[in-house]
Amino acid sequence: MLRGQKALVTGANSGIGKATAISLGRAGADVVVNYVCEPQAAEAVVAQIKSYGVRAYAHEADVSQEDQVVSMVDRMVEELGTLDIMVANAGLQRDATATEMTFAQWQKVLDVNLTGQFLCARAAAKEFVRRGVVPQVSRSAGKIVCMSSVHQIIPWSGHANYAASKGGVLMLMQTLAQELAPQGIRVNAVAPGAIRTPINRDAWDTAAAEADLLQLIPYRRVGDPEDIANAVTLLASDLMDYVVGTTLYVDGGMTLFPGFATGG
Ligand code: NAD
Repeated sequence: MLRGQKALVTGANSGIGKATAISLGRAGADVVVNYVCEPQAAEAVVAQIKSYGVRAYAHEADVSQEDQVVSMVDRMVEELGTLDIMVANAGLQRDATATEMTFAQWQKVLDVNLTGQFLCARAAAKEFVRRGVVPQVSRSAGKIVCMSSVHQIIPWSGHANYAASKGGVLMLMQTLAQELAPQGIRVNAVAPGAIRTPINRDAWDTAAAEADLLQLIPYRRVGDPEDIANAVTLLASDLMDYVVGTTLYVDGGMTLFPGFATGG
């Protein structure tokens, strides 16, 4: 499905990013596995991707640092020739109530979750515009997939920094989509609900926590990283070539106001 395409996934040594990098490799893309810590985990992802007969390497970079993002994409163009798919996935939480939240907690989350996505999208878009459409590779000049969250539209007490960052991702994604579409670039987002990864371990690692969580999920299942990886792979492929500026919610129905299921 993605044979001959080159993908970069940020935060690809854990959780959703890891599953996405593996899925893109399995679909035929060469993949750069970005990480900021735990290089061994990144190398394990690279090894799995290479087992599909495609190229892959790990690249350390902090997505909130402009120079590091620019040199990550420059190296990719040098080593793999170009970039076709950017998955801006890296993200984190620094939770606190509004009155207890430190400026550092606020700033860190905005820097990684929002500024990081802007820096990655900008670097990718520059390469897409430089290269243009190569019809035998893809109908579009390039694809950007922003990893958002249901919290781009659901307010979340105790997580003002995170919810604000994902709300920002929604408007960043839509604005970039509008601006870049005339140049053949597709920008979209995937908004996961509750997915079983290290970022939210507290929400699912005891039976009681999981039971509480399931009350918020009409489909009554916590998501797996592969649920998101499949959506990203599809969005990045030409099967979705007419999809521009959309958020694909992959959330088991979490955004369906489950509190109203019994009539409200
Ligand atoms: P995770 O903690 O397993 O993965 C996050 C990844 O981002 C890790 O590899 C981490 O090292 C990396 N990262 C953090 N800061 C970075 C930086 N400055 N530069 C580069 N990489 C950095 O969590 P996850 O659940 O896989 O999260 C991936 C994305 O999915 C995040 O954007 C998160 O907000 C989003 N998301 C997750 C869920 C969920 O339920 N798990 C729900 C909605 C959205």
